[in-house]
Amino acid sequence: MKVLVINCGSSSLKFRFIKTETEEVIVRGLCERIGTEGGHFKYIREGDEPYERDVYLPDHDMAVRIILEAITDKEHGAISDLSEIEAIGHRIVHGGDKYARATYITPEVRKDIERFESLAPIHNPVNLMGIRACRHLLPDTDMVGVFDTAYHHSIPEEAYLYGIPYEYYEKFRIRRYGFHGMSHRYVAIETSKLLGQRYHASKIVVCHLGNGASITAIANGRSMDTSMGYTPLEGIIMGTRSGSVDPEIINVISEEEDLSIKGVMKVLNNKSGVYGLSNYLSADIRDLSKAYHEGNPDAIRALKTYAYSIIKYIGAYVTVLNGADAISFTAGVGENSALVRRLVCERLGYLGVELDEEANENAHGKTLISTADSRIKVFVVPTDEEMSIAKQTAELLEKRYAAVDQDDE
Ligand code: ADP
Repeated sequence: MKVLVINCGSSSLKFRFIKTETEEVIVRGLCERIGTEGGHFKYIREGDEPYERDVYLPDHDMAVRIILEAITDKEHGAISDLSEIEAIGHRIVHGGDKYARATYITPEVRKDIERFESLAPIHNPVNLMGIRACRHLLPDTDMVGVFDTAYHHSIPEEAYLYGIPYEYYEKFRIRRYGFHGMSHRYVAIETSKLLGQRYHASKIVVCHLGNGASITAIANGRSMDTSMGYTPLEGIIMGTRSGSVDPEIINVISEEEDLSIKGVMKVLNNKSGVYGLSNYLSADIRDLSKAYHEGNPDAIRALKTYAYSIIKYIGAYVTVLNGADAISFTAGVGENSALVRRLVCERLGYLGVELDEEANENAHGKTLISTADSRIKVFVVPTDEEMSIAKQTAELLEKRYAAVDQDDE
C-alpha cells in the first residue's frame, strides 16, 4: 500500500511517501518554519538530489498543499494523480488511556484528540491541524492515527500508577502514559529479528536517546514499563529536560529564584538536562563529547551523570523483565554516540554484558556491539518512526478492507 506519513510539529511538518510491501521510501521531506517568516521546503525523491526552496508557509494547510503539489509535479513528482495516495498515516502524540492501537480517523477520534490536548498541549493541536489539512485537500483518502502513547497501553497497573491518592487517577487520569511508542515498538521488532527470535518471545530493553529520551522494558511484544510518565519530562536526564527530580525541588527553586510553578517547569524543561548540568555548555551530545575528550570538567560531569541515569533505568528494567535477551540503543545519541554507549555498557558487566569496543566505535546501521558471547546482546538499531506509522496504517486498513469484503460475501 502507498501511504503518505504526516508528522506535524508546532512549526514543522515531516513527511514520507512509502510503499509498505517493499518498505521503499518513494519521497520524503520537511516543511519548516510554518506560521513565521522564512518558511522552507525540502523534498527528496529516492535516488535524486534534494530539491529545496524558500516558501512562505502561513499554516499547515499550505504545507500539505505544497507537499501534494511536489509529489504530483511533472519534473520532481513521484505519482501522476493524488488518487495514487492510498492512505495517510498521521503521527498523534497523545491518545490518553483510550487508544491502544492505530485507529481509523473518524469525527469521534478527532474529538478525542482535541479532548486529550490538556495532556499534550504543544503536540495534539498541531497533529489535528495536519489531519484537518489532509481532510480538506484529500477528502476521500482513508486516514489513520498512530499514537505515541498507544504502545504503552500494555503497562500493568502497578507500573503505570504513581504513589499518590488513587482518586487523582480516577478523577484526572494521572498515570504513566509513556512516549516514543512507535520507536520502541519498531526497534524491539528489529532487535528480535537480529536475535533470531520471535518478537513475541523476546525480552528487550530499548534505549531511545534523542533530545528527548526514554527507556522501555519490553517482554513478549508488550511494553511492560517506560521511563517517561504522565508527561515527557519524567525519566532519564535528557538534552535540556531534567528527567525525574524530587518534587520538593520545585518548591525550593520557586522560592529561591522567585519563580512561579510555571517558571520552574520551564527551567526543568528547557534549562536542565545535560545542558544545565554542563553549565549551559551545550545540549548537544556531539559538542559535549568533543569537550569531554578535551578534558572539560563541565562536559565530563554532564556526560557521566547522563550515562549514570541510563544505567540505573537499564538495571531496573532488567529486573522488571526478570532478565533480558538484548539491550538496543537508538535515536540521535543512541545511534551515533560510541562514547555514551561505552559509558553505559562498561557498568553493565554484572549482567554479563561484554562490549565489543571495535564494533561499538565503528557501528553503522544495525550493528551488534557486544561480543558474540555476551550474556545480554547489545545492538545499535536505527529507529524509523515513519516506517512504523506507514506499516501500522497499512495493516489496519488491510484488515478493514478484508472485513468489508467478508461482509459483502
Ligand atoms: P529528537 O528527540 O529531536 O528527535 P534526535 O533523535 O534527532 O532527537 O537526536 C538528536 C540528538 O542526537 C542531538 O541533539 C545530538 O545530541 C545527538 N547526536 C546526533 N548526532 C550525533 C553524533 N554523531 N554523536 C553524538 N550525538 C549525536
